[in-house]
Amino acid sequence: MLGLMQDRPLMISSLIEYAAAFHPDAEVVSRLPEGHIRRSNWREVNERSKQVANALAELGIEEGDRVATLAWNSDRHLALYFGVSGSGAVMHTVNPRLFGHQISYIINHAEDRVLFFDITFASLVSQLAPELSTVRTFVAMTDREHMPEVPGVPEDRLLCWDEFIGRQSTHYDWPEFDELSASSLCYTSGTTGNPKGVLYSHRSTMLHTLMAAARDANDVHSGSVILLVVPMFHANAWGTPYTAAMVGAKLVLPGPHLDGESVYELMKTEGVNQSQGVPTVWMMLFAYLDEHPEIDPHELGLRVAGTGGAALPLSMIERFDRDFGADAMQGWGMTETSPLCVIGRLLPKHERLSDAEKAQIKLKQGRGICGVELKIVDDEGNRLPWDGKAFGEVWVRGPWIASGYFKGEGGDKLDAEGFFPTGDVATIDPDGYLQLVDRAKDVIKSGGEWVSSIDLENAAMGHPAVAEAAVIGMPHPKWQERPLLVVVLRNGADATRDELIDHLAGEVAKWWLPDDVLFVDELPHTATGKVSKLQLRERFRDYQLPTVAT
Ligand code: ADP
Repeated sequence: MLGLMQDRPLMISSLIEYAAAFHPDAEVVSRLPEGHIRRSNWREVNERSKQVANALAELGIEEGDRVATLAWNSDRHLALYFGVSGSGAVMHTVNPRLFGHQISYIINHAEDRVLFFDITFASLVSQLAPELSTVRTFVAMTDREHMPEVPGVPEDRLLCWDEFIGRQSTHYDWPEFDELSASSLCYTSGTTGNPKGVLYSHRSTMLHTLMAAARDANDVHSGSVILLVVPMFHANAWGTPYTAAMVGAKLVLPGPHLDGESVYELMKTEGVNQSQGVPTVWMMLFAYLDEHPEIDPHELGLRVAGTGGAALPLSMIERFDRDFGADAMQGWGMTETSPLCVIGRLLPKHERLSDAEKAQIKLKQGRGICGVELKIVDDEGNRLPWDGKAFGEVWVRGPWIASGYFKGEGGDKLDAEGFFPTGDVATIDPDGYLQLVDRAKDVIKSGGEWVSSIDLENAAMGHPAVAEAAVIGMPHPKWQERPLLVVVLRNGADATRDELIDHLAGEVAKWWLPDDVLFVDELPHTATGKVSKLQLRERFRDYQLPTVAT
């Protein structure tokens, strides 16, 4: 027997309609690529989204057509999120930090018909335009005064956002269609092989949004003032553009200005109480604060510093607590998982623990959220126990987890039970906390045992002189691989190899200690802000550990 409830499709457009109807004046503040700050609100973002939808209709964009963006976080990008998906087209957020040839590959592979771009990317667009075989219209997201020169794009195919969008009607009836229809497309950075497209649907996005906002997940509500540093071109900015609309939160969008000073200023002037970004961004914020000891970050009133994309180091948890009075919290997921799978919140029973004990729990990536099923398996695919000790590859299943890649790239991914392989290796403890040991390809195999690069990096970053650290496995004739620690010191700080090894000796098992420590000015980062182990391994390919007899 079927239930008798209304069969209403889950549509992304319903989020912006809700925000405009019930939180019209809740602010959306953007620092634009042009340099100034623009104050808007959900009512205006809704109007702008409708103008986008009308503009796409004028360009002949039909349901399912892909529309690309090369853009930073701003209210214009937000209007595209709702306008493109809401009209039935597919919002394709392209990561501008990828190499030029990867960007043109992605845009051609997605067969994007329109490309919206921030003026920061004018020369990139100019350079790539001749290779973009499917893009018919280019829209520079700015006003007439700031219109860039874009040689390579014929004048009749280059439009100015303010003129083109501005002259459209703000009236538009959002269409209703199958909730399983594609809503947005995001390519993974593809450390190996070509980037692969993850194609989200209205239904997957709506279910992810409902769950991500929950108290035990990101805890987003109408009192939230969220600084969204995670880029809107990366896994839908962790879904926060949708969650913020769903609850009418104030949204603060930093544009391209991600340096410590700009981020701090924005937090202060806008009264930010939650922030979301990868750890690298918070490291830049810390470096700025190191140079300005007169600033007391307590003045911000920041409650939660949300991180993801890479492990949250203990030193960061401690610093947010001590200097900001804020709770650092991590989530784990990936582009293929929308991205939220687990989140590092404490349980009520942990409240009585000391700060140090709580921090140890926050070091774990977190507990699964309802809707995501998790399993860890051994090499033969057998499920491993949740005892906090056994580790294996993590597989996930749920309505916002990818079933495969766009156009079938990469082949069938799911196992017989319908789980998706994440390529991450983890333990899960009896309370359900998942703790990442490593990415399968980064784990260091020493004498038949595994050394977790994440744990070692974490311990190294606990040394006061260390700003950033990365550990890679180097070939070793006896042990197969041994860890090499590569360190960036804080500005003005000093530490020797032996001091760092001594520090680690108090934190990790003896056989985990790196065979050597190298100091560098900077670590290479991927397009999504993680340390690029691939490039690091490449850079030290010819380096020989001192423990290797010559
Ligand atoms: P990329 O294109 O850089 O792979 P993703 O966002 O899809 O971008 O990356 C997902 C990966 O990032 C995960 O598979 C995991 O290895 C890593 N990751 C995500 N969150 C965390 C976290 N909290 N701690 C450690 N690693 C994380």
